[in-house]
Amino acid sequence: MYLDEIQLTRTLPCLAEPGKVQIIGTPSRSLEEVIPYLATLPGIVAYNPERLSLTFRRRPGFLTLLMDKVVITQVKDNEEGAELLHSLVEAINTTWDQREELMAVTRPSRMLRPLDIYALLPQTNCGECGEATCMAFAAKLFMRERAADECPPLSADPGFEDRRTALDAIT
Ligand code: SF4
Repeated sequence: MYLDEIQLTRTLPCLAEPGKVQIIGTPSRSLEEVIPYLATLPGIVAYNPERLSLTFRRRPGFLTLLMDKVVITQVKDNEEGAELLHSLVEAINTTWDQREELMAVTRPSRMLRPLDIYALLPQTNCGECGEATCMAFAAKLFMRERAADECPPLSADPGFEDRRTALDAIT
């Protein structure tokens, strides 16, 4: 077993889906050692092995693991959040118990694509960044012609913290 629990420590409104929440969990032990093994699982949209930031796509939403924090978006309520964190502890412990059969991932698993960046933007096409669409902004971010903090909605709102973290990790 790797850890006992991930405690639900904070709930924020989820901007990606009004009416839902984003939950923040604090693990009882640093996830530093287990993240490279979790990076072998399917559904990963972003992984930075140097900063140990790992993001999975949920349907709906995202799940991001950092050494000291877990962020899950588009959660119905605190009750569902607690269940998700409980399931995550089980998945982490199972992965850890099987680590000798896995190959820890110490490099990014595949080439970054503009679509990976787009998936983490607000996708409202508001135009505040000066681009006509979020996809256009994603393409320029990919080419390093723009920076993630030039998207005002993404920078300003705490509800997008998980996406900022994931974007920082992959760009
Ligand atoms: S400011 Fe952000 S949300 Fe608005 S169009 Fe640009 S990238 Fe999309």
